[in-house]
Amino acid sequence: MPVHVKVNSPKVTYESDFIKAKYCYESSSATQHPDGRITINPYTLDMDVTTAAKIPRTGLMMVGWGGNNGTTFTGMCLANKHNLTWHSKVGEHKADFLGSVSMIGTFPVGLNEAGEEVFAPVRHMLPMLNPTEMEIDGWDISNMNLADGMKRAAVFDWELQEKLRSHMEHLKPRKAVFFQDFVAANQADRVNNVLTGSKFEQMEQIRADICDFKKEKNLDKVIILWVGNTERFSEIASGLNDTWENLEKAMKASAHEISPSTVYAAAAILEGCAFINGSPQNTLVPGILELAEKHKVMIVGDDLKTGQTKLKSVLMDYLVGAGLKPESIVSYNHLGNNDGKNLSAPQTFRSKEITKRGVVDDMVASNKELFAAGTGPQKPDHLVVIKYVPYVGDSKRAMDEYTSAIAMGGLNTLVIHNTCEDSLLAAPIMLDLVLFLELFQRMDVKVNGKKIHFEMGQVLGYWMKAPLHTMTNSLFRQRSCIENLVRAALSLPANNHLFLTKGPI
Ligand code: NAD
Repeated sequence: MPVHVKVNSPKVTYESDFIKAKYCYESSSATQHPDGRITINPYTLDMDVTTAAKIPRTGLMMVGWGGNNGTTFTGMCLANKHNLTWHSKVGEHKADFLGSVSMIGTFPVGLNEAGEEVFAPVRHMLPMLNPTEMEIDGWDISNMNLADGMKRAAVFDWELQEKLRSHMEHLKPRKAVFFQDFVAANQADRVNNVLTGSKFEQMEQIRADICDFKKEKNLDKVIILWVGNTERFSEIASGLNDTWENLEKAMKASAHEISPSTVYAAAAILEGCAFINGSPQNTLVPGILELAEKHKVMIVGDDLKTGQTKLKSVLMDYLVGAGLKPESIVSYNHLGNNDGKNLSAPQTFRSKEITKRGVVDDMVASNKELFAAGTGPQKPDHLVVIKYVPYVGDSKRAMDEYTSAIAMGGLNTLVIHNTCEDSLLAAPIMLDLVLFLELFQRMDVKVNGKKIHFEMGQVLGYWMKAPLHTMTNSLFRQRSCIENLVRAALSLPANNHLFLTKGPI
């Protein structure tokens, strides 16, 4: 996509192949003393941030391509590519990317002569992949073509489905790695498209599929995104998956506890492809982390942060930030899509419960004044309930109750009801993950000539329920992280929101 935003500074040079920025990183470290004193030590680092300006020919392979998220994402990209319009009972609609920071978001970039804030479209700040030019492929345990999968998902209006059919019916998922024990027994009736052989041999086939896709579409880069069913957690054990060497041996022996998602992750990393885990299970076992580190491949996890959890990370930020004390958080969901059906088994529900619950912990830990000993609960009671109700289909209902202690013995109870199509929230988030990951793969940050390795799991935490290597779950801070990294690539200081002056004095 063309870059319409230019920074007017001697510290930024726009070359045909690179955007080079001199960036002054200002931060602080802090020492906590046993007597409660805190000493803050500011520091400054001069960084060189170089972003490759040429966008590689990029392909996305989705695991679980034929499911609700896979078909909705593919349909959304194709509808935009072909500028499709359709009618619902309220009138005509045009294809869009609503819900995507990369495609529809803006970042504040300064004040104009009238003292008003100017907001630049995110996609015009740095060269970003155009989603309509991205090639898409994938795997599924069901051989249903993408058009029929879209119909089964029942997410898009019927006229849009009819217009998309000719663009999607020739798209057929590749054979999948599948071990029934990792998902609910009720998924068995979908299975007609799976690989055989040892777990290692199946991984080799996934690698061959990646190479085949790359060659067939003449691609420079492939990104792998897991949007398959939520799996149960796999056991982490020494000698099994604690190192890459052990994991490789375990795959050769087809060890029971090696999950399908871990097999895909290993194949992706060995092919040099970034891997994003859009579901809650512990795909990224220590052996996978070691392999990714060794091959310098970016991995991102876990679980897309779409509706209820996103709101939770905003509300917790607000309540704790305001000095109110959340003492009880109760989240109910009911949904009727295949995800809900799979989550009706206790072992897969458990994976989801863990990622949904973890989001409040760092915010509770951030305010020891609020949760100090002797002043009531040390952390909120936090309950998550998910029920499968086929009638509501993809239209998920989320009901939350937050009860907080307020001044002088008072209570504040917030009750929130959220209804919306789950996959239409997920698809733009999947797009953001792919587009920003692809951009950050092209970004190189050095201090004194030495490369800084930034954790992609942390940087892309805005879109993940349980970010790998997370520092914070606060949604505002996570979005600032993305914004400030884009600004760093343009030699702009981190946005301080101070408005002390209207311009240079
Ligand atoms: P879905 O059941 O419609 O799709 C999952 C697809 O994965 C199915 O087509 C299934 O056949 C396939 N599959 C299962 N195991 C596979 C394997 N080993 N290899 C290849 N394919 C496999 O579910 P969905 O609604 O698309 O959600 C997908 C995942 O995303 C779920 O884990 C869900 O929890 C997670 N998620 C979804 C949302 C959201 O939709 N808002 C939010 C967060 C996380």
